[in-house]
Amino acid sequence: MDITVAYFHPLLHPEAVKRDFEQIRAVGAGSIVYAIHEQEEQRWSHDLERGLSQAHDTGLKVYLSLGRYGSLFSGSSLTSSWYTLRHPESCVKDRHGRSHIISCFNHESFRSWLFKEVEYYLSTYPIDGIVIDEPRGPDITCFCSVCRALCPDVTDLQRFRRCSMINFLGELCAHVKHVAADAKTTVVLLPEDLEQVDELAALPLLDTVGCHLSWQLVDEEVTMVQQWGHEVVEAAQRHNKHSQLWLQNFSLDQQGERELELAFSHILNAGPDEVACYYYWRNNVDPEHVWQTTRDLLRRAPRRQLHWQTTLARVPLLYQFPARESQQTLQY
Ligand SMILES: [Zn+2]
Repeated sequence: MDITVAYFHPLLHPEAVKRDFEQIRAVGAGSIVYAIHEQEEQRWSHDLERGLSQAHDTGLKVYLSLGRYGSLFSGSSLTSSWYTLRHPESCVKDRHGRSHIISCFNHESFRSWLFKEVEYYLSTYPIDGIVIDEPRGPDITCFCSVCRALCPDVTDLQRFRRCSMINFLGELCAHVKHVAADAKTTVVLLPEDLEQVDELAALPLLDTVGCHLSWQLVDEEVTMVQQWGHEVVEAAQRHNKHSQLWLQNFSLDQQGERELELAFSHILNAGPDEVACYYYWRNNVDPEHVWQTTRDLLRRAPRRQLHWQTTLARVPLLYQFPARESQQTLQY
């Protein structure tokens, strides 16, 4: 099982970054996700280049998340997209004619700008792929002139919006591959958007489909982690794609901390290709304890050569985690 850790921390202090990356590598991670926002790269390009190179030097691949681009994706900061603010003509317009600070993904000039940004990053920095983090689902149907021209039939707008999003993400993945054939493409959904997971997984140039299994943030029981996880893994398997399940090791109070191990067992039971989590991410009541627990859990993640996924399907849900060293002698 592969391990990815999101590193949403400044790259300004090389020694601190080196220490952090060594810790991440030591838990068995093979890659990091780093989120970049539009306004950041122009202010500290040297830090970005050095920091991402440090990840490579530590043996970690780097996947770049396009933080809040067009206000369409998630990011490490809750900011609006500079592009969207400076290009109000690209904004989504609802049925009442009101503009929302989100760029319409059908807007050609927005797409063109976004694709150029992707091309710039892939050709300038040591990056192994692009992550599309929580693409904004079809919660607002756009009535801008571009969308109306593409869909004059107002009775089927919901479906149009959903298909447009899939088409947009497919073109974005195709552009990544066009610029760098070896670069990996990943889309990570929110649980509420899992109805799109099968269509997404079918995109020919999407490599990895994932989900943020943030049971506590969306006020669900931790048992939902396994159900969501299975939906992602099954969709990925149907289309021969890589599945990536994210552990919510942030925004945890003491009750959430107590459920962290159970959430991880649900993830393992879903049998993903990859498990992902965050390095010291925000708003934990006890951040040190959450990271220590996360490290312990990741060290127990099965190794690929043990054929864990086949065996795991028959394992009862709440099995005890074995120490890594003793995995080969497990008795189920
Ligand atoms: Zn539109």
